[in-house]
Amino acid sequence: LFVPQELAENAVIEASREQSHYLSHVLRLAEGAELLLFNGRDGEWLARIEAKAKKSVRLRAVERTRPQPPLPDLVYCFAPLKQGRLDYLVQKAVEMGASVLQPVVTQHTQIARPGIERLRANAVEAAEQCGILAIPEVREAQKFDRLLADWDSERRLIFCDEDASTNNPLLALQAITERKLALLVGPEGGFSDAERRQLRALPFVTAIPLGPRILRADTAAVAALAVIQATVGD
Ligand code: SAM
Repeated sequence: LFVPQELAENAVIEASREQSHYLSHVLRLAEGAELLLFNGRDGEWLARIEAKAKKSVRLRAVERTRPQPPLPDLVYCFAPLKQGRLDYLVQKAVEMGASVLQPVVTQHTQIARPGIERLRANAVEAAEQCGILAIPEVREAQKFDRLLADWDSERRLIFCDEDASTNNPLLALQAITERKLALLVGPEGGFSDAERRQLRALPFVTAIPLGPRILRADTAAVAALAVIQATVGD
């Protein structure tokens, strides 16, 4: 369970209202029951339910069960999709090791202002589900040109381009020397020709194909993250 509070031996944690409801009325845990907590900083902790009231649950941390793992350094840049598919996209990106989620507004992006708080809640839920002990950062949406203009040149941008059929993605990725990586997947309407030309002209960009078929943006995201994890991810 994710808790924002500090985790240390004997730390007392007041579960949130939603979490208290979940622990008491969904999982029906009794006082003394044990569960695992994480806050994204102090590793994984065993905790016990110390007291339950009608709408609250108090926990006490007992011992650390796993140290805080290093966060992978993978920025996932994506053109926001319609909300339902966006929830899926965020969940898969977290499962597949994205440490930062960066919405990007391109010419054909459908949703220029995605619900960031909802994306953040999805990221926490995905982290709880897959036990990664870290909470990916979900940034405010950025315009395409601004994102590239401010780019950290020590970070390699892997651009999923269905026109990059010449490249072998595995060879292209294995040729990457930078430790800091980012992935960019376009919107349902694809990148504009001007955007594509702009990307291909940048020295820090590697364009990769994901097979001969046009994938939906969320499919492309999972496929690209899988290829990255299989070659250069950590
Ligand atoms: N441009 C496509 C078109 O006009 O039909 C649609 C874009 S596709 C739905 C969304 C994004 O997924 C693309 O911008 C690209 O980043 C990625 N993508 C889809 N299929 C791909 C492929 N075969 N290779 C590389 N990237 C792909």
